[in-house]
Amino acid sequence: MATYKEEAIVLHAHDLGEADRIVSLITSGRGLRRAVAKGLKRTGSKFGARLEPFTHLHVVLHEGRNLDTVTQADIIASHAPLRDDFEKFLFGESMLEVIEKSLQENQNIPRLFEILRVTLDALEKGPRDLALLLAAFQLKVCALIGYHPHLERCLHCQREVKGEGARLDLAGGGVFCSSCHGETGPTVHLGPESLSLMCGMMGKGMAAIARMEVAPRISREVLGITFLYTESFLERQLRSRRIVLDHLDGKPRNHPT
Ligand SMILES: [Zn+2]
Repeated sequence: MATYKEEAIVLHAHDLGEADRIVSLITSGRGLRRAVAKGLKRTGSKFGARLEPFTHLHVVLHEGRNLDTVTQADIIASHAPLRDDFEKFLFGESMLEVIEKSLQENQNIPRLFEILRVTLDALEKGPRDLALLLAAFQLKVCALIGYHPHLERCLHCQREVKGEGARLDLAGGGVFCSSCHGETGPTVHLGPESLSLMCGMMGKGMAAIARMEVAPRISREVLGITFLYTESFLERQLRSRRIVLDHLDGKPRNHPT
């Protein structure tokens, strides 16, 4: 079995017994990989502490049948501030969850690695609006995996959608104007401000989105919608949806994850 080098970001890590750590990684060239790092607690272990969620690394992996083995890991960006700041951690964890659930093992969509790398950098620097950054990230991930949302024109009549009464068809991947029907599944109401914000974000890079500021009510509404949109296409629930939205709504957390 071969040994290979990749740039990677740790999505998830858990210790196995005393000595080993299992990690999920998104790599720049080979998509999602699961790997084991052995001998963590042994004196002289070179990289145990480096394999934490959010860490961006150069890794050397030895290919295995079920799990690869990490043989080398060098930090490019530790992103430690994302683990030390409760809010950033919450939003960052949600980004990692979206990526992990977007890919099958060994499936590779190279731009997913890039969008995560850029977004984690923006998150660490401190975006003006965390909810907006996460919402934009979700929309862009959906677009990259093949579910680009059609937001400018009505799916049915093709007219530009403006004003009140627009609905986003979660399964159809686009909007219906107030006078059209034809939904293929559940829809959510999309206010004019939210719709125009979502259209605007699709054309902007993450660094520009990190500098945007809108009314908290609007970014909260948009994030609620993008969570539902993302879940609809992943055909899976996102554990982080309730946690992040409750946090924004000021509700206490009853169930630690
Ligand atoms: Zn229409």
